[in-house]
Amino acid sequence: MNFKKWISFGLAGCFLFSGCAAQREQAQAALENSQQENRYEATSFAMDTVMTFTIIHEDGEELLIDAEQEIRRLENLFSVTLDDSEVRQINENAGDKPVHVSADTLALLKTGEELGEKTGNAFDIAIYPVVKAWGFTEEEHSVPSQETIDRLLPLTNLDGLILNEEDSTAYLEKEGMAIDLGGVAKGYASDRVKDLLKEKGVESALLSLGGNICAIGSKPDGNPWKTAVQNPIDENDYVGLLEATDTCIITSGGYQRYFEEDGKRYHHIIDPATGWPAESGLLSVTIVCESGTKADALSTALFVMGLEDALSYWKSQNDFEAIFVTEDGEVVATEGLKDSFTFEGKDNDFTYRLAER
Ligand code: AMP
Ligand code: MG
Repeated sequence: MNFKKWISFGLAGCFLFSGCAAQREQAQAALENSQQENRYEATSFAMDTVMTFTIIHEDGEELLIDAEQEIRRLENLFSVTLDDSEVRQINENAGDKPVHVSADTLALLKTGEELGEKTGNAFDIAIYPVVKAWGFTEEEHSVPSQETIDRLLPLTNLDGLILNEEDSTAYLEKEGMAIDLGGVAKGYASDRVKDLLKEKGVESALLSLGGNICAIGSKPDGNPWKTAVQNPIDENDYVGLLEATDTCIITSGGYQRYFEEDGKRYHHIIDPATGWPAESGLLSVTIVCESGTKADALSTALFVMGLEDALSYWKSQNDFEAIFVTEDGEVVATEGLKDSFTFEGKDNDFTYRLAER
């Protein structure tokens, strides 16, 4: 098996096949350092995905437990399916009354709302009525009628989300409205775990939440952590390698969750303007950003926008970089990644270009 195939083995479809993330981590671990002192690693299933945390610290064993507890705590706040989650309570009280929420939920709703406004509503945390109609939450997929979509779309308008910071409450004005933090919760969770570990003195760690990466520091030998950017059309391949030091790398792609009906593929990233899966000409968007929350929201939003609008948005901001894989077979990286991204897609007929400001 050649090097490229070996490192990427099991990378693809991590949301569909839970075993593959572990395989990928194994390959990565073997590659990077198999006999490090104080290297602790654990894999678990949470937030509907496989998570692997690697911590380099003498107290790594306990820290892994702390990290997992933090993830569970956040999942219990943000899940749209767990009975007692705060998001569930907000949704169940839509059109009725405000719900008291924790500081984490309030902060994430506020950030989600802000990023929705900044991205021209390409990112919409009130998208749940439509996501549910497509059956993506319960995995009971079906194509809704246009009539259903037309009826539900007005309920996804974020103006109907009322946050009261003084009382720490959240209220959805109209019955039938519902919050879905699925596009941002894993990024937020990686930020919180990163903070927790740093507070406890961790200077080197790699958090993988379903293939989304958050790097603390660099590897113990001083080299950057490395991760692969998946080839969206070949689950056993990747289009390039990214180096990461103290940053998060988060990918959204239609290949990650989808169903097929009458020979057509429908994926889980909804264009809030139409209520249909976004057909923007992109296969995937990878965001590199210090903030995992922002990286997660932007990966979803820029996928909806399409390459041209996404590049304009990138040019108007200065706190993230991106890699786009297009349906036309192009891999486009923004210029800040010039030295940290290595294109490897030649064998698959991808072409590569660097986008400049
Ligand atoms: P991600 O994998 O981060 O791109 O998030 C996709 C998930 O976010 C979906 O499974 C939905 O739960 C939710 N979602 C879908 N479309 C949007 C959107 N336009 N804005 C915000 N969240 C969305
Ligand atoms: Mg996202």
